[in-house]
Amino acid sequence: MNQSQLNQGLLDFLAASPTPFHAVKSMADELSAQGFLRLHEKDDWSLQCGGRYFVTRNDSSIIAFQYGQGDPVSTGLRMLGAHTDSPCLKVKPQPDINKLGFHQLGMEKYGGMLLNPWFDRDLSMAGRVTYVNESGDVSSALVDFKRAIATVPSLAIHLDRKANENRTVNVQTDMPVVLGLLGDSNESTDFRALLLEQLRQQNDSVKQVLDYEIYCYDTQAPALIGLKEEFIASARLDNLLSCYVGLQSLINSDDNLPALLICTDHEEVGSASLAGAQGTFLTAVLERFCTNRIQLGQLTAQSMMISVDNAHGIHPNFSDRHDNNHGPMINRGPVIKINASQRYASNSETSAVFRHLCQQHEVPVQAFVVRSDMGCGSTIGPIAATETGVKTLDIGIPSFAMHSIREMAGAEDPYYLYTALKAFCELKQLPESSCV
Ligand SMILES: [Zn+2]
Repeated sequence: MNQSQLNQGLLDFLAASPTPFHAVKSMADELSAQGFLRLHEKDDWSLQCGGRYFVTRNDSSIIAFQYGQGDPVSTGLRMLGAHTDSPCLKVKPQPDINKLGFHQLGMEKYGGMLLNPWFDRDLSMAGRVTYVNESGDVSSALVDFKRAIATVPSLAIHLDRKANENRTVNVQTDMPVVLGLLGDSNESTDFRALLLEQLRQQNDSVKQVLDYEIYCYDTQAPALIGLKEEFIASARLDNLLSCYVGLQSLINSDDNLPALLICTDHEEVGSASLAGAQGTFLTAVLERFCTNRIQLGQLTAQSMMISVDNAHGIHPNFSDRHDNNHGPMINRGPVIKINASQRYASNSETSAVFRHLCQQHEVPVQAFVVRSDMGCGSTIGPIAATETGVKTLDIGIPSFAMHSIREMAGAEDPYYLYTALKAFCELKQLPESSCV
């Protein structure tokens, strides 16, 4: 795998994964193609030495792992973590609005969106639908309209003269999307009927759409941009970039060693959910390696997780938002994220392990700490560390426009990240964890 293969794979993955459900499907398909065996949480598992496996929860979170040749309880696991969700507009349960002859849909805000960039984009919709079929069985399926079926037009500057000075955005009143014009008074405004029609193209036995989780997304394709194509521009770089690079790092690592990748949903809304990092998913999988709680403690004490989530690169127009000594540069390698209040889980031991690995593999490495007069974001790192007791490091590659509809990162950084994460999956020994 070289840099251009990794970047092309990343662009394809981003395009194929408009929602967490689709991201998990993309990852599951690739894992199956690479020989990983699908497991289900409801079953008994008999894990074999050398085996490679994956399991999903809620169709929106996934754990993939390789068992290795030894006993993970005595060696510990190298773990990578990322999240599958990104801030976006989500369709309400009873969304239909008929106003001035327009068919519109009411929207909820999912996560900490940057709202302004969502105006004037060619939007499509995708997600999960639960339906009943002709035989009365209830099932779920993924849908993706794939074409631009909606938009949120801006108000013209002439009707809002202060728009460039003090515009605020209200999702409830300003952002119902426009689907189209209603031709005559008999034309129905029924989003479930639209979903039914879309689903029937995949499965003609679908009788009725019961419920759904449908998200809007931008149809503009991910791309390499810049004079020398030194940047990647796409929706959902936070955090599908880390999911994809983590996936490739695991797949291409030495399968004699035990390693695990977890990608969870709902990070952007706090991770407290069935499928989120604060849920039971990871612990439930780790318990499958053990016969009792003592063994689980032994396993977690000898393991380490790298939580991978994009960092804020220093922006040439807004450089004062960074501490002078901690402004991560695009295309200068992954960033170790540190926060005294434990918004990031890194400590001197876990960051030193990573810094040393990067030095050994000639990967440049940077450090980020937020300005002391600003609040700090967070990741699944502190949550996973709290829930499992696994020592954890927070890193990520620098990016711009985090939580915009289109974000930007460097075209060289994913390969640096891949090199470092693959080396971590292959790390045989962690340093002894007590100095007293
Ligand atoms: Zn993130």
